[in-house]
Amino acid sequence: MANPLFDALFGRHQGKDTPFLHLPDGQTLTHAAFLARTARFANAFAACGLIAGDRVAVQIDKSADALALYAACVQAGLVFLPLNTAYKPAEVDYFVSNSGAKVLVCDPAKTSGLAPVAKGAQARLETLDGSGGGTLADLAEAQSETFDTIDRSQGDLAAFLYTSGTTGRSKGAMLSQANLLSNAETLKEFWRFTERDVLLHALPIFHTHGLFVATNIILLSGGSMVFLPKLDVDELIRFMPRATSLMGVPTFYTRLLDHPGFTRDLTSHMRLFISGSAPLLAETHKAFEARTGHRILERYGMTETNMNTSNPYDGDRRAGTVGHPLPGVELKVTDPDSGTTLPDGEIGVIEVRGPNVFQGYWQMPEKTAAELRSDGFFITGDLGLIDDQGYVQIVGRGKDLIISGGYNIYPKEVELVLDDQPGVLESAVIGVPHGDLGEAPLGILVREKGAEPDSEAILAQLNTDLARFKCPRKLIVVDALPRNTMGKVQKNVLRETYADVFG
Ligand code: ATP
Ligand code: MG
Repeated sequence: MANPLFDALFGRHQGKDTPFLHLPDGQTLTHAAFLARTARFANAFAACGLIAGDRVAVQIDKSADALALYAACVQAGLVFLPLNTAYKPAEVDYFVSNSGAKVLVCDPAKTSGLAPVAKGAQARLETLDGSGGGTLADLAEAQSETFDTIDRSQGDLAAFLYTSGTTGRSKGAMLSQANLLSNAETLKEFWRFTERDVLLHALPIFHTHGLFVATNIILLSGGSMVFLPKLDVDELIRFMPRATSLMGVPTFYTRLLDHPGFTRDLTSHMRLFISGSAPLLAETHKAFEARTGHRILERYGMTETNMNTSNPYDGDRRAGTVGHPLPGVELKVTDPDSGTTLPDGEIGVIEVRGPNVFQGYWQMPEKTAAELRSDGFFITGDLGLIDDQGYVQIVGRGKDLIISGGYNIYPKEVELVLDDQPGVLESAVIGVPHGDLGEAPLGILVREKGAEPDSEAILAQLNTDLARFKCPRKLIVVDALPRNTMGKVQKNVLRETYADVFG
């Protein structure tokens, strides 16, 4: 009788007074206290009539209790379905109805907007806030601090995690206990996490990065986390002296570098800085090393697969690459049309296989069949290559590839050149409809603070650095690129905004 994921992550800490969460108000929650809270919620879910395999949708702000709901779902054999807190009721409606969730947990302040959603989806609505208030908290208060963990096996589903929706409508990725556990075990070893680690945690916990990568590794290693509600650079700096490691999206690192209080001294005791979820500019990697002496370790993963590749812990962490496939993960680059494996150095679609790869998209059998090969390889939709030293380089998403007059243009190649131009902080190159070429490249430039890029001069420079067909037909200067909560540039938003530029 067992529940492999619960036993490995949570059960091992039962009754231990070791620290688990350091909260911003100075309080520390021990493993034992966290597990007592978890058991109360597991009992509360049982009192709501939930049984193993039922889905629980959760849209609440990050807090210790929010994390305890994840643990409670694992303990009670329920499928945890966390939702981005930015989603509006109409969006939540899709996730709750699509997933067939039996319960929707939301912040008490959102009750009026979400009550009709829950009713329409025939889900029970419960509320919970970050400070112990709400109907679910009341229900939990009346429950026991122990719960008989429900038996589960490695193949049972542990979570439905919806993808970030960067390229279109979010898809529900079905993740089994084994998917989560195998990846956490691999990463803990690979990145050398131990019980001495204190992870600075400022990521959201509705996404794989903050929920599974960060939290599961810390639980497995027995370390603790400084658990901050959101990215606030002053807070990162305030708590860094207590931490050993940080996981962030690239925005964390650019914001830290913009802060005068972020110094070499502040980071001298730190063991590890990890970046992922979106491409880290090589420039950021270099500036970070120059400022702190630390080389950021970049890794690559996705909702459907957890983590696939990582730069080495000991070896060379190379800027602009995502390292090598993790132990147990197979990776190949294939021709998008024929599916045959391409030689190293050639750009194609990245495919991965391993115990980390998900079970399929919930209620999307056709999409699952199209992207998950029968031999177990998952077609990620990311374009990349394996370089001469075996490092994987991502050049962008298949959906962002521009086909102009029959030629393929990889936006990243053009963006790297644009980023180097005077007055340009960063850039995005997108394909927009063009009468003659089908699609033509458009460059969006973000101006550096206090600078004004000279579009004419930049276009002239591009024409000497790049083949003519790759050169943007036009440049537009903006203050910032649209990004979602995970720091990903929303190229679909840009494509919509500028759809008529050549029209
Ligand atoms: P959707 O699939 O709904 O469009 P999404 O792909 O952004 O959204 P996630 O699963 O959160 O949803 O993100 C995974 C994607 O993030 C990867 O497929 C890849 O494109 C990108 N990514 C993650 N890490 C990196 C990295 N280190 N460098 C470049 N891209 C990365
Ligand atoms: Mg995706």
